[in-house]
Amino acid sequence: MHSVRSLVSGQTTDAPGGVRTIANPARLDEIVSEAHLGDAETFLQACRVAKASQLAWSSVPAPVRGRAIQQLGRLVEDNAETLARLITQEIGKPIKESRGEVQEVMDTCSFFLGEGRRLYGMTVPSEMPDKQLFTFRTPVGVAAIITAGNFPVAVPSWYLVPALLCGNAVVWKPAEYTPAIADAFAQLILHAGLPEGTFQMVLADGPATFAGLERALDEGVVDKVGFTGSTAVGERLGELCGRHLQTPCLELGGKNPLVVMPDADLDLAVEGALFSGFGTAGQRCTSLGTAIVHRDVHQDFVDRFTKAVTEAPIGDPTRDVLYGPMIDERFAARFEDWVELIRDHHHVHGSSAVGRITRRAPREGFVGDDPEAGFFYHPTIVDGVRAEDDLYRIETFGPIVGVASFDTFDEAIALANGHGYGLSSSIYTTDPLHAFRFRERVSAGMVSVNNSTSGAEAHLPFGGNGRSGNGSRQSGVWVLDQFTRWQAMNWDYLGHLQKAQMDVADVAADLTYRLPE
Ligand code: NAD
Repeated sequence: MHSVRSLVSGQTTDAPGGVRTIANPARLDEIVSEAHLGDAETFLQACRVAKASQLAWSSVPAPVRGRAIQQLGRLVEDNAETLARLITQEIGKPIKESRGEVQEVMDTCSFFLGEGRRLYGMTVPSEMPDKQLFTFRTPVGVAAIITAGNFPVAVPSWYLVPALLCGNAVVWKPAEYTPAIADAFAQLILHAGLPEGTFQMVLADGPATFAGLERALDEGVVDKVGFTGSTAVGERLGELCGRHLQTPCLELGGKNPLVVMPDADLDLAVEGALFSGFGTAGQRCTSLGTAIVHRDVHQDFVDRFTKAVTEAPIGDPTRDVLYGPMIDERFAARFEDWVELIRDHHHVHGSSAVGRITRRAPREGFVGDDPEAGFFYHPTIVDGVRAEDDLYRIETFGPIVGVASFDTFDEAIALANGHGYGLSSSIYTTDPLHAFRFRERVSAGMVSVNNSTSGAEAHLPFGGNGRSGNGSRQSGVWVLDQFTRWQAMNWDYLGHLQKAQMDVADVAADLTYRLPE
């Protein structure tokens, strides 16, 4: 059993916020960890330490900071299997996906270790002689990073790695229900060669985090907030940061559409819908929300999708399954609410029952001995979803996928955008015109063609619009704009003051000139 406390200056802290016990969601009688939570003061203290340490870290040359990221990548690689198994044990993610998640951390380190040798600014020509202009990327200061637990290391690494590389000090607040994973990742970061106080990990619940952040912002010891989580909390954090004239990086929920055109390869579309709808039991921000299928192929799609879902292996996440349990009791409880959104005009497919898999409501082919040992839920396809349904508008973070119909391309676009989220999207088509029209008109930050709605890569921008985020982007070079600010410098070495716009030479052109006819 892992007993975990916050880490400030590399030391464990007191835990005035109480203790939370975490069971393996696939085997509830197995206690995995005990989170000794901090409070608002713990969060504030961590931010103060980070503030006091940041200048020293930002003074380390960027290529040397890149070396620390390289060491972190090596440590993650050498501990990859242990970390992946811990992810599967603490949140029940299928082991193959857990390994993929750890790989994403390594890929992020690989990308950013080189960025330490780039982090380019520019030399810019001046409009006056004997004057040079330059741009520099400067670190923002202290980054407070608050993350959800469904990607407990990959998503944090998208913030922590570039933030550190850019010379910021960091306070990371992981999800309350992933303390062992968070501690393991924090230990790898602390062993990568960062100076003391550059990185802290705070375990706290949501209200304590909010209160601590509010005080830290008031005190001026947080300069940037990165938040991955629900839209409701993101809105509150956006308001709070706005009061301090700060622009947070907000990565929020999704209701991701998958459009199937009549010319689509239906088997491919079903494969994509199965993985994006039910992988990680639908608990990804990029999970498929509603499949939007042309009326001509609607029934055929539903039949094939139903067959694929009915036959999919579900159960023990240490084995080869499509998905395991809900990652935490909270999401299991909330799934019961999503099932309540099913209405009389809907048709339900995909399993022998709806809701929790139990001995009385079994799932044929369940992988494992006893479904009641964990938070396992039946996969649910809800056909007949319409734009006015709650199921169409509300993010359902679980194994439930809606299917809607359309006749015209404009209707498909209206359904793809109408809920107001804008994270990920997908279209299945064999016509390039449809693919590019969709790209132009869908409001999502990410578009897949003939591919599932999920599957980020470490060097492609990740992020959403509307209810999915405030337009910030993570990953690749794009995230550098979150963790650095552009500083412009000019240097005039002429020896007397030259005034921009006023002392600029002109070129004498003869604008009356015309070519002989
Ligand atoms: P949540 O918003 O409840 O919690 C996320 C984090 O915020 C946790 O660490 C939590 O402790 C903290 N938190 C909660 N209330 C807070 C408050 N008032 N002030 C400060 N921090 C607070 O999210 P959740 O329900 O645990 O996670 C699932 C959500 O996250 C889904 O909506 C999912 O789509 C989204 N998500 C988005 C992305 C993305 O990249 N866009 C990735 C993963 C998950």
